[in-house]
Amino acid sequence: TTKSRRRSSFFGPVRLEDHDDSVSLVAADRGIVEGIEGCIGNTPLVHIRSLSEATGCVILAKAEFLNGAGNSPKDRVALNMIEAAEDKGLLTPHQGDTIYEGTVGSTGISIAALARARGYRAHICMPDDQATEKSDLLHHLGATVERVPVAPITSPEHFVNLARTRAREHTASGASASRGFFADQFESPANFEAHLKTTGPEIYQQTGGQLDAWVAGAGTGGTISGVAKYLKEERHMTGLRVVLADPHGSGLYNKVKHGVMYSATEREGTRRRTQVDTIVEGIGINRITENFEAGRGLIDDAVRVTDEQACRMARWLVEHDGIFIGSSSAVNCVAAVVTALSLPKGSRVVTVLCDSGTRHLSKFWKRVGDLGLENDAKEESEDLLQELG
Ligand code: PMP
Repeated sequence: TTKSRRRSSFFGPVRLEDHDDSVSLVAADRGIVEGIEGCIGNTPLVHIRSLSEATGCVILAKAEFLNGAGNSPKDRVALNMIEAAEDKGLLTPHQGDTIYEGTVGSTGISIAALARARGYRAHICMPDDQATEKSDLLHHLGATVERVPVAPITSPEHFVNLARTRAREHTASGASASRGFFADQFESPANFEAHLKTTGPEIYQQTGGQLDAWVAGAGTGGTISGVAKYLKEERHMTGLRVVLADPHGSGLYNKVKHGVMYSATEREGTRRRTQVDTIVEGIGINRITENFEAGRGLIDDAVRVTDEQACRMARWLVEHDGIFIGSSSAVNCVAAVVTALSLPKGSRVVTVLCDSGTRHLSKFWKRVGDLGLENDAKEESEDLLQELG
């Protein structure tokens, strides 16, 4: 049936026995995957040699930018959210149903691509302070894009609230039988469950369960929570150190370190995340989402990372390893180094490379250039490692 075909394409090669006779694949076609969905998951775990040499630990990074639909870990999440909605009968292909989402970009890009592949429309609400590469890409993927001014989560104009409203308006309009579905990545359990079902098991298999720390930033919290739940709860790796990587202006660092979420009005040294606090995109938030809450009790520590450290790390990875990443990945790598330096030599630290630097040319990589890092990258990078130690 169509359904079993879809299932078989989830994170793996096509299982030919699931196909009906009308499909032309033959038994010899072993390396073929079913559509863009088949290009999601099973990403490599990359040994970052330069960081291992510098820290005396083994630094490994899940290359999530190699997910083949929207090129980020959000491919896993978008696919799982869509499949969950289809299973509940909330979405039906080719009926004009529209998926609405509030996103800083990555989830929207994954939803837009998968929507096209499965017969839906996509309507994406995003803040207007994000790199234009992401909204441009959404346009090219055929999504409707609403870029809205940055607003607090209590405001109806916040991009997440706006997406929820737009979905309701669509369904309520009654103009056709089509429906609006609000994917709700921040609160939907289908988000962290995607990582519980796929990213966590992949990391476990790729390391043979030999890892000492798991380090990740949180935007929705789905990645850090889902992987931590798999390793600590399902695999009983109680000694695993789970570390949150957090940019300036995010309240999560204080929540993990001190149990207090500083609100916009109760600022400590650093302010609420605004456009001026950080150029890092995709991680750092000032509320506890369901997806962060799902793994909160499993997080042992947090590392706060400055924009400058992230820029220097991004430059280091190009200089030494030829790895070109975006801002949240750079924050993760700084936190992975800090974590490694706090652990015994030879410890194994796993983190995640969320997206490519190509999605961050106009903002993050421009800042790297403005900091003059391109001229003398090696020296600057070495200073960074000394500073972190
Ligand atoms: N990096 C990037 C570039 C992202 O867009 C996001 C999600 N907003 C994350 C990291 C964080 O992932 P999660 O939502 O699972 O916490």
